[in-house]
Amino acid sequence: MNAHVELENKYLLLTPGPLSTSPAVRRVMQRDWCTWDKEYNSLVQDIRQRLVALATSETELYSAVLMQGSGSFSVEAVLGSALPKNGKILIINNGAYGARMVQMARCLNIEVVELVYPETQIPDLSDIEKALSDSSITHVSCVHCETTTGLLNPIEEIGRLVKAAGKVWIVDAMSSFGGVPMDIAKLEIDFLISSANKCIQGVPGFGFILAKREQLQACKGQARSVSLDLYDQWNTMEQHDGKWRFTSPTHVVRAFYQALLELEQEGGVEARYQRYVNNQKCLADGMQKLGFKLVLDTDIPQSPIITTFMYPNTADFSFQELYENLKQAGFVIYPGKVTDLNCFRIGNIGEVYLEDIQRLLAAISVYCQK
Ligand SMILES: *Cc1c(COP(=O)(O)O)cnc(C)c1O
Repeated sequence: MNAHVELENKYLLLTPGPLSTSPAVRRVMQRDWCTWDKEYNSLVQDIRQRLVALATSETELYSAVLMQGSGSFSVEAVLGSALPKNGKILIINNGAYGARMVQMARCLNIEVVELVYPETQIPDLSDIEKALSDSSITHVSCVHCETTTGLLNPIEEIGRLVKAAGKVWIVDAMSSFGGVPMDIAKLEIDFLISSANKCIQGVPGFGFILAKREQLQACKGQARSVSLDLYDQWNTMEQHDGKWRFTSPTHVVRAFYQALLELEQEGGVEARYQRYVNNQKCLADGMQKLGFKLVLDTDIPQSPIITTFMYPNTADFSFQELYENLKQAGFVIYPGKVTDLNCFRIGNIGEVYLEDIQRLLAAISVYCQK
């Protein structure tokens, strides 16, 4: 007899990943796969091709590499493989994920120049231009949507400076890829990193890197780790038709394939972006009507991914109480991550629709009247 299994979701995740997935994405994980069987490997190849096609119209220039682990593992694989022994990286840091890249680079003994900004500010282009005059800098990296606050960094403008200076351009688009339209060839991105459980709406278990073929080739022999060797991972997938070097998260990969099909059915990245934008607008407007203030100033580009709100000024406000109350009502929200600010976050990516945001607002309104 089968043990009783809870299949129904207890709450909607309004978090920036893992996020709420569709019933079909969860359902396709019910079967097992053989990792070296041709059928499974061709699924991997199909996924890799679809990812490249989502990222750019210049598909021949780029290739996709899937990497076990959470998104951070893929970021670390890029930093640890792309930088040569005597390389030096400029990291633009205006949030927790920019800071994490700095921490990784230092841990890997990579020389780092850090440009730090407050988490609620966008980086200054003239600072970046000045920093780039250091000819020993070989690589530059930046986060696209800083999930710490939900702001969108100006990767188009930064990328132009980076490429004009002849540096390799790395973008952590973890929480935006698939949910914000972009063409990585036009943006001249050399390495873009994202993961299965963000805007593609899969489940957690692997990350992926979209990179220029020539840049992947250049990573050969440079890795500072065996498991996170980006070149070797790519080369094995290329040479063996979609085979992963080590155990791959088969169920997660199958779920991701389903998530890619659903993204296509929704109308592609542009349509998904519109849905997220509508969710975010409805959320931000509704929350402001309830008296909550946004953390980001209106002149800072706000992503449609996640929004940060200040705690209300009332002395008796408890985030934990709001959290528990909303969880009872079927919604999970996210604590804040901004240093020195009492705030919380609400995400609107995943299988989340306008009706869900309206139901959430109604639940918050009821809570506020208590
Ligand atoms: C989610 C996320 C990551 C990766 O986080 P993991 O917990 O390792 O999956 C990296 N950068 C950004 C901007 C993110 O939103």
